[in-house]
Amino acid sequence: MKMPPEPYRIKSIEPISLLPRLEREDRLKQAGYNIFELVSRDVYIDLLTDSGTSAMSDRQWAGLMIGDEAYAGCRNYEHFVEVARSLTGYKHIIPVHQGRVAENLLFSTILEHGDYIVSNTHFDTTRANVQHKGGIAVDFLTPEAKDLQSDYPFKGNIDLDALRVFLAEHPRQVKACIMTVTNNAAGGQPVSMANIKAAREICRSYRVPFYFDSARFAENAYFIQQRESGYANVPVRDIAREMFAQGDGTLMSAKKDGLANMGGFLAVNDDDLSGKLTELLILIEGYRTYGGLAGRDLEAVARGLEEVTDEEYLRFRTAQVRWLGEQICESGIQIVQPTGGHAVFIDACSVFPHIPREQFPGHALVVELYREGGIRAVEIGSLMFGSIDPKTGSFRPAPYELVRLAIPRRVYTESHLRYVVNVLGTIRQHPERNTGYELIYQSKYLRHFTARLAPVAPAEQGAVTH
Ligand SMILES: *Cc1c(COP(=O)(O)O)cnc(C)c1O
Repeated sequence: MKMPPEPYRIKSIEPISLLPRLEREDRLKQAGYNIFELVSRDVYIDLLTDSGTSAMSDRQWAGLMIGDEAYAGCRNYEHFVEVARSLTGYKHIIPVHQGRVAENLLFSTILEHGDYIVSNTHFDTTRANVQHKGGIAVDFLTPEAKDLQSDYPFKGNIDLDALRVFLAEHPRQVKACIMTVTNNAAGGQPVSMANIKAAREICRSYRVPFYFDSARFAENAYFIQQRESGYANVPVRDIAREMFAQGDGTLMSAKKDGLANMGGFLAVNDDDLSGKLTELLILIEGYRTYGGLAGRDLEAVARGLEEVTDEEYLRFRTAQVRWLGEQICESGIQIVQPTGGHAVFIDACSVFPHIPREQFPGHALVVELYREGGIRAVEIGSLMFGSIDPKTGSFRPAPYELVRLAIPRRVYTESHLRYVVNVLGTIRQHPERNTGYELIYQSKYLRHFTARLAPVAPAEQGAVTH
């Protein structure tokens, strides 16, 4: 498969350079082998996240100049509301500085201790915000998603049977269903329109409000157009509108499909709920017409939301991610199939089969990507989600040992990604040069951000085989 050319050309550039190998090794040691501790200047190709890392268009940059920084009622708020309302169809649009504030506002308002929120899969911050308000976050991911190699087209779907059973068993205790599109924590996999409609019907019959977490709504709509029967000739913008029309509101981080570096919003139809959310917004985030953002930021998001449903852009975007996945597979490395909208997920056990899971093969690959090529990726495996059984003291691995290569929007070209493929090819030729890692320091929550690690001595590792 060929990648189409970028449907844009470069007007402004930002130099990047590769540090010499010895310096990279030194930076790793100083960082305690934790890539979150590296400074960006020392990274050559940064695939840590697609969040807030988009390149803005000339139209967006021009929009910054017409930022109206009045405290109340700035003109960019008007544009922001007009764009968000015409896209989503929701009555009340509440700006916030990023997605997790929308989560905080909503869950602070609708949850009481012991209430449930159900989802296809809660994103990390969504789950944390539910729990912080005393709620219980429950995921019902479709069973097709458990087989990493199956090419089922909508692995982000919610398990409808499990949802129905749970709502029947917990009447009045479920305060909302949140559909995450695309399903970020489950590999950026899309959710089908049929699944959205069926889940909405189930929720309606139990009077459970139905919301979206729509950080990647445009990528999801594009996958519906490409993969779901009946949508091949429907414009992506209309698919997005049809999707939002199924819900009672949405949480939105504009740091992804808003094509902006900061921003977000919360949208709801309910007047009473909107009043409560706005009261809290003013308390923690800012007045209702700016919500923690400068006027110029509101303008950048408004323009980003207008641009992101461009189908030539979405065709390139999804093709770029798929191309990277295909090239990596050709070098004999396994990835999660099919590629989703924003990242390629590598199965690290297929690269380093000799590293036992309690020595974090995914983390070893992340370290080696930086050492070999100055590339920054993130582990989504036992360093992030593994634990120790408190009763037996034995190691409990995460479900998979994955390494995520997230692709920032409109930032890297084919030759950057070819470089990434070549570095992976080199690593693949000499897996034995790599050892596992052990934890030297870990925090109680979200340990991967602050952990310090050290390589396991090769002799120790040689004792373990599989
Ligand atoms: C990024 C993200 C969030 C949180 O948004 P922030 O802007 O990072 O606060 C919530 N849900 C999903 C699905 C996300 O991808």
